[in-house]
Amino acid sequence: MSQVAATTVKSFPFVSERHLDPHAYPDGIAFLDGQYLPMSQAKISVLDWGFLHSDATYDTVHVWDGRFFRLDLHLDRFFGGLEKLRMAIPFDRDGVVEILHNCVALSGHRAAYVEMLCTRGASPSFSRDPRQAINRFMAFAVPFGSVANAEQLRSGLHVAISDKVRIPPASIDPSIKNYHWLDLVRGLYDAYDRGADTALILDFNGNVAEGPGFNVFCVKDGKLSTPAVGVLPGITRRTVFDLCAEAGLSAVATDVSMAALKTADEVFITSTAGGIMPVTRIDGAPVADGKVGAVTDRLMALYWKRHADPAWTSAVRYP
Ligand SMILES: *Cc1c(COP(=O)(O)O)cnc(C)c1O
Repeated sequence: MSQVAATTVKSFPFVSERHLDPHAYPDGIAFLDGQYLPMSQAKISVLDWGFLHSDATYDTVHVWDGRFFRLDLHLDRFFGGLEKLRMAIPFDRDGVVEILHNCVALSGHRAAYVEMLCTRGASPSFSRDPRQAINRFMAFAVPFGSVANAEQLRSGLHVAISDKVRIPPASIDPSIKNYHWLDLVRGLYDAYDRGADTALILDFNGNVAEGPGFNVFCVKDGKLSTPAVGVLPGITRRTVFDLCAEAGLSAVATDVSMAALKTADEVFITSTAGGIMPVTRIDGAPVADGKVGAVTDRLMALYWKRHADPAWTSAVRYP
């Protein structure tokens, strides 16, 4: 292996050391082909359809203070995606739960980002028929990551609304969590070009849809709304609905126009990677007075408090 690498460098002197091993891996444990491995060793073939065609589904759950948060809902979504994509894995629900527990336990992380995924896999003959591919299940646990950093969680994110349109539901069922992210990544570069932290992109009608891995809510006159169509039904989004129901707040899924978002009293985004995260600037202009709003603040507190509730969490089986 190192001999091949050395030859490569010699014949292509412009290939720097950095490109020989461009990857620094987060500290964590993966499950792949029946084995638990450090992240640096969890590698798949370039012939895997997951890589070549984005033919895959996945789900991400987090562990906070040693407890999985709403794992059942994530498993429901993951197994739903497998069925819709006609994929089969050699583990049932309990088997997947055990693998996820083991990944986190072996990693030792008390706060973790845990992903389960299934790719179409590869076929021994490189057939173009997806039925010939052997589906591949993988999972991993790495340190908890957030869309927003500590400062952004305190003062709010600056979001740009890109004119890019999210892949329509008639093409890809958005309830299947997927890696069709080129629209979202283009939106992100639009946002960076405009000096924003992250992006929201539009649905096929020109209303606001979602961002790279998160849903969005706005609050107007104490009532919450979030885009209804063309978005992944996020579990953090669902949790906001549940918390609102308990707190007596009105929350609906409906069309959310760009204008509605920009004239809202409060805006926040939701993701397993970060929870409920305030947005205080849109396209360079402050949302209301530019401060994190009271409803957002309250929901954030309720959200994190529920991470100790046995009804919504399960303790990782650490050794
Ligand atoms: C995962 C994801 C979300 C957020 O869903 P959560 O279940 O709250 O993490 C939103 N949009 C897209 C496109 C996603 O992939």
